[in-house]
Amino acid sequence: MAYSSWLECVRGCGRRYSIYDIAYRCEDCGGLLDVAHDVDALRDRSAAEWKQLFEKRAHTTEWPYGSGVWGKKEWVCPQVDNENIVSMYEGHTNCFWAERLGREIGVPDLWVKLCGNSHTGSFKDLGMTVLVSVVKQMRADGKPIRAVVCASTGDTSAALAAYAAAADIPAVVLLPKGKVSTAQLIQPIANGALVLSLDTDFDGCMRIVQQITADPTLYLANSMNPLRMEGQKTVAIEIVQQFDWQVPDWIVIPVGNLGNVSALGKGFLLMKELGLIDKLPRIACAQAARANPLYLSYQTGFREYRPVQAQKTLASAIQIGDPVSYERAVKTLTAFNGIVEQATEDELAAAAARADRTGMYSCPHTGVALAVLFKLIERGEIRPDERVVVISTAHGLKFTDFKVAYHNRALADVIARHANPPVELPADYDAVQRAIDARFA
Ligand SMILES: *Cc1c(COP(=O)(O)O)cnc(C)c1O
Ligand SMILES: [Zn+2]
Repeated sequence: MAYSSWLECVRGCGRRYSIYDIAYRCEDCGGLLDVAHDVDALRDRSAAEWKQLFEKRAHTTEWPYGSGVWGKKEWVCPQVDNENIVSMYEGHTNCFWAERLGREIGVPDLWVKLCGNSHTGSFKDLGMTVLVSVVKQMRADGKPIRAVVCASTGDTSAALAAYAAAADIPAVVLLPKGKVSTAQLIQPIANGALVLSLDTDFDGCMRIVQQITADPTLYLANSMNPLRMEGQKTVAIEIVQQFDWQVPDWIVIPVGNLGNVSALGKGFLLMKELGLIDKLPRIACAQAARANPLYLSYQTGFREYRPVQAQKTLASAIQIGDPVSYERAVKTLTAFNGIVEQATEDELAAAAARADRTGMYSCPHTGVALAVLFKLIERGEIRPDERVVVISTAHGLKFTDFKVAYHNRALADVIARHANPPVELPADYDAVQRAIDARFA
């Protein structure tokens, strides 16, 4: 069983590196690198055998295969030694039938994949387990890596800090000051990372982290590093597995740096190559209107691409004006007959609040995805008989500030139609009785 993977230039120039090389760009043409697998070696099991293997491992405690990511180790990162894997048994998040919301918006087969129900509260755990495991392997093999470093809009840093702490590897995180939620800020602090709060935005942090990691003893943990995508691509496999290996018609996903949508596409393409599925879903990318470089490029049929200056948005984890994985995402959208739509602040806040009224607890990024879903249904792009999966990227509890401000009607540019502030009353039976009667007349 000689499964293997390596890094390969995304521009197809043929340049290759080992997954243990410290390289983030092709030295020949400057393209990003992707992980490629020896797919022929993976054909030693039939599609049915892979499905059976993945199902057998799921939800067990068997190290490390009980993890949703490492249960697919052969497809993700076959080389790393099991004793160097750093895992919190991430993945296996629930994909639930959003029955009431789906009924209300006229797409009854609506599902939400809650990737935020994870160790640090976002899908970033899926990729970080792989990256930190490779770093642990490299350190065990004698590579002089002093620390892992990332720039972040809040969730990458939380995941990096947690996994690095579990492995006792130093972590450094660069955060845009005042632009991440309180929960996101305190996570890497609690996990003991060196937290550098910079007076800039994410794109500014990203520029500095690229300079910092020119020093090979400081290893880059941003999604520019393709190891993260190998873990994140398992979300595609999980979704299909949760539908008994059937492929939904649509996946709606909120996007910023464009790593996750590229990973999603990779997962589906590998399943198709190995015969586990025979069709692909369509992918709808959802952007915040205030940070919409992909949307603008889509309007030109991807002929033009211009970075934008990202404006402040409630969807702070996707407040990115110059996405690193633009080229990867365009390839994915082309392969998946994809579309891109955007949501304003009012639309994303209303969508999140409306979903919450049906029992969810949506983060603002999931709000962007839901707002885009509503638009695509209204436009007839998504039809009533289609099965739709919305990727919820983070847990709503990481964005308490957003929820509180919404229900206090304190958000700029948002009309809080679903605001539900508490009714303050004296401790008096009649007052309570009257309040109930007033609401449910
Ligand atoms: C990182 C993140 C995204 C965007 O993912 P990209 O890979 O940057 O496109 C969306 N939502 C949340 C909550 C995130 O943390
Ligand atoms: Zn190249």
